[in-house]
Amino acid sequence: MKIIDTHCHLYPSEMENAEEIIKKCKENNISVILNGVDIASNNEILELSKKYDNVYAAIGLNYDQIDKFTDDDLVLLEEQIKNNKIVALGEIGIDYHWTKENSEKQIYFFKKQLELAEKYDLPVIVHARDASKEVFDIIKNSNVRKGSMHCYAGSIELAKEYIKLGFYIGIDGPITYDNNRKGVELVSNIPVENLLIETDSPYLSPLRGQINSPLNLKYIAGKISEIKNISIEEIYEITYNNANNLFVLED
Ligand SMILES: [Zn+2]
Repeated sequence: MKIIDTHCHLYPSEMENAEEIIKKCKENNISVILNGVDIASNNEILELSKKYDNVYAAIGLNYDQIDKFTDDDLVLLEEQIKNNKIVALGEIGIDYHWTKENSEKQIYFFKKQLELAEKYDLPVIVHARDASKEVFDIIKNSNVRKGSMHCYAGSIELAKEYIKLGFYIGIDGPITYDNNRKGVELVSNIPVENLLIETDSPYLSPLRGQINSPLNLKYIAGKISEIKNISIEEIYEITYNNANNLFVLED
């Protein structure tokens, strides 16, 4: 059985023991799509993806490093896209949770990367926090029609709009938390055929307070299996096929 974590940060600058965990994932039939946040982490990912056959590369410039980015980073990102095998541009997006002061710069880099995704015909992996409407409008007004909404936290209605655009909905560890009624309702209302499972490791552990790893995917798949009343094996299989459709993992 094939299992895939479509969004995590298993690389040395985020996790000291990243390679050890990648090997453990392989023993457990888990593939991972590593998501970069800047040129340096993208390079770490590209190296790991060449070294391990259960590692796929997604590269991007993310909001949390936004202050240090210049147009040079976009040039370097395009070089990385052209010279390597990658499955998506990510993670990219907009986050107004911490500050809105840099909103213009966040929007600029998000739009520029959507243009790159279009130019190289790549799906995108999108982070949107406290900016659901804005992110949706920007994507809708772009020509990008394939991607995943990482750790989706918007409404059910908006999720359906994303699906119409050609996007998948990413479900993470918080679905397992007690009292996450909004998450449970979302999963109840969206077919498994439109979902992806992801851990965002080392963040968002289903086991609160611990460092997360893709080995915890079982808690997320397990919760979805419980909500949907479908076996966990089927959840793994359908979400793997979804990921393969979107990211073209197998040629
Ligand atoms: Zn992430």
